[in-house]
Amino acid sequence: MKLDYEPFELEFRHTWNISRISIQADTNYLVRLEHTGITGYGECCIVERYGESAQATERALAQARALFADADPWRYLDIENMLRANFPSLASLRAALEMALLDWLGKALNLPLFKMWGLNPSHSPRSSFSIGLDTPENMRKKVLEVPDDPILKIKLGVDNDREIVRAVREMTDRPIRVDVNEGWKNVTAAAERIQWLHTQNVEFVEQPLPAGKLAETEKLRALSPLPLIADEEVHTSKDIPRIAGAYDGINIKLMKSGGLLESLRMIHVAHALGLKVMLGCMLETSLAVTAAAHLAPLADYCDLDAHRLIIDDPFQGLEVEKGRLILPDRPGIGVEWRGKTAITDNQ
Ligand code: MG
Repeated sequence: MKLDYEPFELEFRHTWNISRISIQADTNYLVRLEHTGITGYGECCIVERYGESAQATERALAQARALFADADPWRYLDIENMLRANFPSLASLRAALEMALLDWLGKALNLPLFKMWGLNPSHSPRSSFSIGLDTPENMRKKVLEVPDDPILKIKLGVDNDREIVRAVREMTDRPIRVDVNEGWKNVTAAAERIQWLHTQNVEFVEQPLPAGKLAETEKLRALSPLPLIADEEVHTSKDIPRIAGAYDGINIKLMKSGGLLESLRMIHVAHALGLKVMLGCMLETSLAVTAAAHLAPLADYCDLDAHRLIIDDPFQGLEVEKGRLILPDRPGIGVEWRGKTAITDNQ
């Protein structure tokens, strides 16, 4: 298979603020795998939080070119193992390469991925729409920008958490999901905040305490009237049994797990352990978000909204209508190139 790749810029509609970072624009990588005249597409969103970097990603991409030269796409599980062995610490790169491989396979079989896996898209839960951290005044405005989204996800983990929630509640009574992004440090204080959030039509709390604080999270869970969802704490299926007593569910993202196949495994492991599954995303275009949406029929919650946070999405794929996910009925991932940025299309 012939691999080529290029970086491209994403610009956000609003500066993206969470408790840890603030981002206005970002660089993702587009990868293409070509074989027998068919091209599969994949996207990599580098995650610094997990020790990834553009330099390491570029080095690995050059190495991957040689690894794919003799690869047989039909032995895709061998390729997944080969990627894990060669790039153990670059999950987002593995996700991009495997995404392109599965896009290729779906196109070669002339089947959308959800059909390959026997899934019914009408079973997908509705997605939330995320609003980044901002001043209460701007939060009010941002809520008004998305009147049709039935579930909002808001980022907390700062001193004025209550003020932010009150600002949102002044504008809407829609259910809210809260993502703390490891921002709370103390179990008692976190429990008090959750008790209050419970009175505000909040559905669950994501990653309240820092990853690695499992004993504290277990204590918090015993005090919490709301379900706790692990995000930064859980990357692959191997992490799930360890965290099962401390959380009620997990947030699965392609860029953390290393791809669709591992994400599928994670869904089954989580459900076997009685955990809920949320399907989320990083700061990605329609390409990676649509890829993840093919697994949505197996999820309990969806937060697939990143493509709506950027300006000039270079791809068209998943549509979201009042939170309902509408998957394209095209082979593979099913995204189409819009041709709005400098990315060249070699098909
Ligand atoms: Mg999160």
